[in-house]
Amino acid sequence: MCAEFINSILYLRKMSQQLLQKSLDYLKGVGPSRAELLRKELQLHTYQDMLYFFPFRYIDRTAFHSIGQLPQTNAEVQIIGIISRIETVQQKRGKRLEATFEDQTGRTKLVWFRGHQWVKKNLKLNTPYVAFGRLNWYGKQCSIPHPELELTSDHEQQKNYFQAVYPSTERLTSSGIGNRILRQVMLNLFQELGHHITESLSESIIHKYQLISKSNALKNIHFPKNQLQLEKAQYRMKFEELFFIQLQLILKKQLHKQKIKGLPFQKVGNYFNEFYNTHLPFKLTHAQKRVIKEIRADVGSKAQMNRLLQGDVGSGKTIVAVLTILLAIDNGFQATLVAPTEILAQQHYQSIQALLKPLKIQIGLLTGSTKLKDRARIHENLRSGTLNMLIGTHAIFEKNVLFKHLGLAIIDEQHRFGVAQRAKLWRKNELPPHILVMTATPIPRTLAMTVYGNLDLSIIDELPPGRKPITTTHRHDSNRLAVLQFIKEQIKIGRQVYIVYPLIEESEVLDYKDLMDGYASIERDFPKPKYQISIVHGQMKAEDKAKEMNRFAKGETHIMIATTVIEVGVNVPNASVMIIESAERFGLSQLHQLRGRVGRGADKSFCILMSGYKLSQDARTRLQTMVRTQDGFEIAEVDLKLRGPGDLMGTQQSGILKMIIADLKKDYPILQQARNEVIHLISSDPQLIKAEHRLILETYRQTQAGKTIWKYIS
Ligand code: ADP
Ligand code: MG
Repeated sequence: MCAEFINSILYLRKMSQQLLQKSLDYLKGVGPSRAELLRKELQLHTYQDMLYFFPFRYIDRTAFHSIGQLPQTNAEVQIIGIISRIETVQQKRGKRLEATFEDQTGRTKLVWFRGHQWVKKNLKLNTPYVAFGRLNWYGKQCSIPHPELELTSDHEQQKNYFQAVYPSTERLTSSGIGNRILRQVMLNLFQELGHHITESLSESIIHKYQLISKSNALKNIHFPKNQLQLEKAQYRMKFEELFFIQLQLILKKQLHKQKIKGLPFQKVGNYFNEFYNTHLPFKLTHAQKRVIKEIRADVGSKAQMNRLLQGDVGSGKTIVAVLTILLAIDNGFQATLVAPTEILAQQHYQSIQALLKPLKIQIGLLTGSTKLKDRARIHENLRSGTLNMLIGTHAIFEKNVLFKHLGLAIIDEQHRFGVAQRAKLWRKNELPPHILVMTATPIPRTLAMTVYGNLDLSIIDELPPGRKPITTTHRHDSNRLAVLQFIKEQIKIGRQVYIVYPLIEESEVLDYKDLMDGYASIERDFPKPKYQISIVHGQMKAEDKAKEMNRFAKGETHIMIATTVIEVGVNVPNASVMIIESAERFGLSQLHQLRGRVGRGADKSFCILMSGYKLSQDARTRLQTMVRTQDGFEIAEVDLKLRGPGDLMGTQQSGILKMIIADLKKDYPILQQARNEVIHLISSDPQLIKAEHRLILETYRQTQAGKTIWKYIS
């Protein structure tokens, strides 16, 4: 593109920007009162809002039914005929207006419950009409309530038989702003905008992906000429949406790398080497080695590391954390490891202390239940630098926890912490520490790229050798006796068993009762002293929880009855049976996490999902998925399909997941293309200063400045 041409486009852009910011009050067919409704009901304020208010489906107005052969369903149909008779029918509440509509093959009824006067006044008898609407069957009687009617002559004049249907609200429809009006308003909008919809992508991208122009795409989204044009338009707009989201994420990441200086870990020192060469308890998997390499490259550079480490339950993330910590200590820094629960912090503390014992590293544990006296000592030793490492819960985020020289913060099981909490760790130093976030909840790739697109991603996609698959079954309450018998057999051969009950915050009281009832009945079935039972739940003191957990870990008790507090991280290799009560009430990722508590030792492990007979379709899919596969990523994909991206990631990130047209469940290939293109673009022109990227830059700036979905990204 030559400079002059681009300048003229930029000029047009500016003009169209002004136009697009106009309030809907000024649009033909809207006016102040409708504008008010559109603002209130659909959050549409400006021309631009309207332009990007996309239909949620389309109806094919090229096909017709003959009245004699209407389908016996609630389908939407289009018929041609004449109105032979109109009458008002008295019903229990109010009146309804009924028109007999017929063609050569038969007749049906068109019905109105409101707006009688208007209908009566405007409808012409014995004149050909096209009627469109949803069939309503009452026995053998069929009617179409509130049909869209058009004189056949008008219908033929319309060019777009493929018709957009817009989202609406009760209030809008009852105020007469139906789909028809919205379509008319949209038509007026396009008339006024004319050629003012300008391009936003570069010529080379448009060419490479055979994209139709933006203005063409927007027109076809609202008024598709045909199926093919519609698909092209959708592809173009999805590509564009995903492109600019990725551009924002990747530019942010780049800016971060330039701006946020890190603390370089320049050497691999004695701690790392000694541990790696002589104390490593097992051979690392290829995936673990690869990830450690990626981390080393990060912390060795001058920028701050911001890395997400994903690895399925049991894939061995802890050892990666430990090695990274040793790198920090080797370079004279302190490190911290933050876990989401007290139990998990305790467990990390114990296992890491055991691992690092030969190295004489000073490790502290700080949780909510750390005694005041110990707390003071820990604070002191952190500040003086005597402590090399602090393991704990979010207690570590508190202001008065100060380090001498914090170089690395590792956050385990990220999904429990928010971005805001992560940011608190940053402020513990002049230069922010390197950050490694570990998560065991596999996130579908589309989501990871979108939600964590500004983090670097490492994946452990390989389990340590020798893991035996866990046999998962689904049992109903009526199989309970057999299940109990099975538990007894397993205990007899020396295994330990988890029995987990749901705990959902809204019904905590009820859940507590379920848990206690369960406990009582298990105690009856497994009497002392032959059987020892532990119990752990959220309402116990941290101390008691830890004590019970320890008894189970040491093998002193046979059965652990628990709520989901044991969901994350708990590691008792001898426990090989996981019973999940009311399994239908758990989400997929929770079930997967819970199952991950077994299969950690050498023995064959089992997971039994207990449920009632009545299951919702989704619950059935969840349980079937669990029985079918153990692959965390596969499970995550199913979860995404069932729950949608917003739910999956929690409210925190849901802002960026509100896309106008792209769908993370389906549009992975487009996301991949858009992301590749952005990466390519940024590597060839990091500042977007080249003339051919000018339109991209302008559009990007606009998305940053304006009231758009992209502002939510942190
Ligand atoms: P997670 O990724 O769920 O945190 P852990 O780090 O707790 O997993 O590791 C799970 C178990 O696998 C631990 O008992 C750990 O000692 C063991 N483990 C980790 N890596 C390996 C390996 N390369 N070879 C054998 N066992 C391993
Ligand atoms: Mg772990």
